[in-house]
Amino acid sequence: MVEVAELRDPRADGRRCTLCGGETFRLLHHWDPDHPRNVSTAAPGYWQCACGLAFLHPVPGPDQLPDHGEWWSSRRKLIIRRRRFKRLRARVQNWLFGTPVDRLIRQVRRVQPAGRLLDIGCGRGEPLAPAARQYQCDGMEPSPVAAKEARRRGFRVLETTFESASIPSASYDVAVLDSVLEHLPDPVYVLRQVNRILKPEGVVVKLPKLWGPSHRRHRREWNGFRVGCHLTMFSGRTLDAALEAAGFTPLRRPRRDRPLDDILVVWGRKAPLRHRGSCGPPGRVRRGLRAHKGLANTACQRRFDGPPLLEARIGGYHGTLGGGS
Ligand SMILES: [Zn+2]
Repeated sequence: MVEVAELRDPRADGRRCTLCGGETFRLLHHWDPDHPRNVSTAAPGYWQCACGLAFLHPVPGPDQLPDHGEWWSSRRKLIIRRRRFKRLRARVQNWLFGTPVDRLIRQVRRVQPAGRLLDIGCGRGEPLAPAARQYQCDGMEPSPVAAKEARRRGFRVLETTFESASIPSASYDVAVLDSVLEHLPDPVYVLRQVNRILKPEGVVVKLPKLWGPSHRRHRREWNGFRVGCHLTMFSGRTLDAALEAAGFTPLRRPRRDRPLDDILVVWGRKAPLRHRGSCGPPGRVRRGLRAHKGLANTACQRRFDGPPLLEARIGGYHGTLGGGS
């Protein structure tokens, strides 16, 4: 049992769930500033809304993150270098099944075999290389370090965040968000904007899965928790709901959200014209969410995702955290 010395309640800071607008949260995990999983100098926690969406609170500021929030920092590379066994395992998997990028693009082709593709958060351009054989590709990457490398590989890269970019509506056939949504404070807003720039085709999402086998086994030591950088965490159900709130129809095939997977690859096709109102103002989104099968009668009376976890007592009273978290 661990005494909770200091945690800030999201409700006291006026936070609301970006998916359902709710204010009923419970604490999943928290980390001290010196915990190896926590790259920030803050002491944040992951909170889960009654609808299942988990988010980091408080969100560390740039001055609390290495290299002022630059994701492609020297510290990130240091953390990766420590995982020699995982690198060996990845090599074997890549040899047997193809690299994760190859597999991702293979899935994209099954949804939309040609056209204009925008890779949002393209990093150093790894996914663009195999995609460029079949698509007219553009990349978007806010990190100057990564964007420079992607350009060096010959790709056109917009060096900006998606929220700041001015992309004309209906200008792409496919949007790829590979390990992006978890970095965003309001991923539903970004998905709505992705919907706007797409022709009626598809969007691809890939990210760590909350309540996957690794999270259940390792709890707060799970590699999916890049505390400070990953701001929002999805389960398969909440990702479906976010896609629908943004005006997409989640596709069932191809889809990778099996019980033994730690990575979600969920597909959404831009909804037919008559349904596009669901990407309108928040009130309509909330009504759409209430209609969603997995979120009917959301708020307090619904059970949270996952097993019973922690009793978090915040603010004026002390609390306990157990279960390895
Ligand atoms: Zn919620």
